[in-house]
Amino acid sequence: MAMSSAEEYSSQSSLFRAFARDGKVPRQLILDSFSASGILDDDPRAKTLFKAIRAAEPLLSQEQFLALHSVSPALFEQVLAGQMAIPQFTEFSEQIENIFDRVSGNKGGQLANYIPQLERVDPEKFAASVCSVDGQRFSLGDSDDFFCVQSCSKPITYCLALEEQGEEVLHRYVGTEPSGKTFNELTLNAKGLPHNPMINAGAIMCGALIKNDADASDRFDYVMSKWKECAGNMKIGFDNAVYLSERQTADRNFALAYFMREKKAYPADVNLLDVLEFYFQCCSIEITTRAMAVIASTLANGGNCPLTGAQVFRPDHVKNCLSLMSSCGMYDFSGEFAFRIGIPAKSGVSGAIMLVVPNVVGMAVWSPRLDELGNSVRGVDFCRQLAARFKFHTFDSTTGLTDDRIDPRRNLYESRLGGANAFCWAASEGDVAEMRRLVARGVNANVGDYDGRTALHLAASEARLNALRYLVELGVDLNCQDRWGNTPLDDAMRQADADSNTYEPIISMLREHGGTSNKTVPSRQNK
Ligand code: GLU
Repeated sequence: MAMSSAEEYSSQSSLFRAFARDGKVPRQLILDSFSASGILDDDPRAKTLFKAIRAAEPLLSQEQFLALHSVSPALFEQVLAGQMAIPQFTEFSEQIENIFDRVSGNKGGQLANYIPQLERVDPEKFAASVCSVDGQRFSLGDSDDFFCVQSCSKPITYCLALEEQGEEVLHRYVGTEPSGKTFNELTLNAKGLPHNPMINAGAIMCGALIKNDADASDRFDYVMSKWKECAGNMKIGFDNAVYLSERQTADRNFALAYFMREKKAYPADVNLLDVLEFYFQCCSIEITTRAMAVIASTLANGGNCPLTGAQVFRPDHVKNCLSLMSSCGMYDFSGEFAFRIGIPAKSGVSGAIMLVVPNVVGMAVWSPRLDELGNSVRGVDFCRQLAARFKFHTFDSTTGLTDDRIDPRRNLYESRLGGANAFCWAASEGDVAEMRRLVARGVNANVGDYDGRTALHLAASEARLNALRYLVELGVDLNCQDRWGNTPLDDAMRQADADSNTYEPIISMLREHGGTSNKTVPSRQNK
C-alpha cells in the first residue's frame, strides 16, 4: 500500500532527526552508513546517489537531506534505517573474516590434475565473497582473480533449461534423484535418463535443451549474457585453454553422451558433438568470487538479481534448482553436506563452491586444493565453520533457544528484546549506530520500559558517553524519572560513589545540558 504524504513526511523527518546534529546532518554520516551496510561504490543502484552525496555540502540542512533522499528514496531509507537483509552487516563481515582466517592455514588436498590448466593454478589461492539479497557485499582474499567455474555451471545450465522447457518437459529428460555415484560415473537411472542435472550426464542433457535450434555461437552468447545478468552485469570471462583441454580429455563425457544416445534419452534433432562442445564451454566460463557471490544471491533471492532488480529466473525454477543443489550439489559428499551444513551448494573441480542461503545471502568460496571427492578442502572447512557459527541450516529453527549460533537476518537487539526496547538496549550497550537506525525507523527516543527506565537512564548507568551525547543531541527529556523517582543524573551520581573517574564525564555532560537530580536540590544555573 502506498504511503500517504503525511506518513511519508513523518518517516523522512524521523530519518533526518536520527542523523542531525545541531539541525544539520554530516554528509560523512550518510556515507558511513552506506559503507557499514555493505553497499559498495560500484553498486549500480547507488551510483547516482553516491555522486549526489559526494557533491553535497559537508553539513546538510533538512532540505538538502531530503533532496538526497529523493535521488533514491527506497535505498536511502533502507540503508539509513538499517532495514537490510543482514542488519548488522559489519559484525557479520567480521565473523566471515574470522572464519576465513581460521581456515586459511588448512593446506590439505591436491590440485585437480586431469587437465594441465587446473594443475598449474597457484594452490595457495583463497577467496571468499558474500552478497546478501539486498546487495550488501563483502570480499576477502583473491576475490579479483578469475577461475573457471567447472561444475558450478550446472545450476545455471539447469535454470536456463527450465526457463525454456518448463519443469514438466525438462524432467522427462533428466531425473531429480541423487545418483550415489561419482559425478562422471557411466550410469543412468532405471528409465535410462541421467539421475539429476548436477552431475555430468544431467548437465549434458540440460545443455541439449537450451536453444537447441540456434547456432552454437548464438547459443553461447545467450548463455554468457544470462550469466552476466545473474551477476548484476559484472565481468564474466571464458578460458579458451581450459575449453580446449576439456575437449581433448573428454573420453568419459563422450562415453556418457553416447550412452544416453544409445538409450534414446535425448529429444529429437540433437547434435551430440554440439551438445558436448556446449558442455565444455560452460565448464570453461571464468569468474571471480565477487561475481559468483552475486549469482548465488540472485538464486537466494528467487531469481531476482539484488544489484539490478532483473528477474533472471522464475522463483519456482530457482526453488527446483536449490532443492537439487541441496541433495546433489557436492558430489559424493552431498548427503553429508546436507545433513551437517544444510546450505544448498554446488562445487566445481576448480575448487569453487557456490552457496545459497535462501532469502538471506549468496556466497562463493574458492580454494583450488581438492579432497578425494572433488570438493575444495578449505572451501568445505569454511562451510563447516559457517554452519557452526550461523543459523544457516535449511532446517534450523529460527525461534529455538537451544544454541547460541547467530541468526544474522535478525537485528541483534530486536531479536533479544523485541520492538521498542531495542533502543534502550542499544543505549545500554553504547551502540550509537544502531540507536540512529532505530530513530530513523521512527522509534521514540523518550519512551521508557515498564519501570520507566529510558535509554538515557541506561546510557547514564552504564557510562555510555557516546550514547548519552547522541541522546542529548536528539533533545530527549534529561530529567525523566523512573518509577523510583530517579533521573539519569541520579543514576550516574549513585554509580560515581563507587567509580568516580568513569562517571564524572557522564555527570558533567548531563549537568551541562540541564540534567538535574531529583534527590538533590537542582542548581539554578543549570537551567
Ligand atoms: N569439467 C570436468 C568434467 O566434466 C569436471 C567438472 C566438475 O565436476 O567440476 O569432467
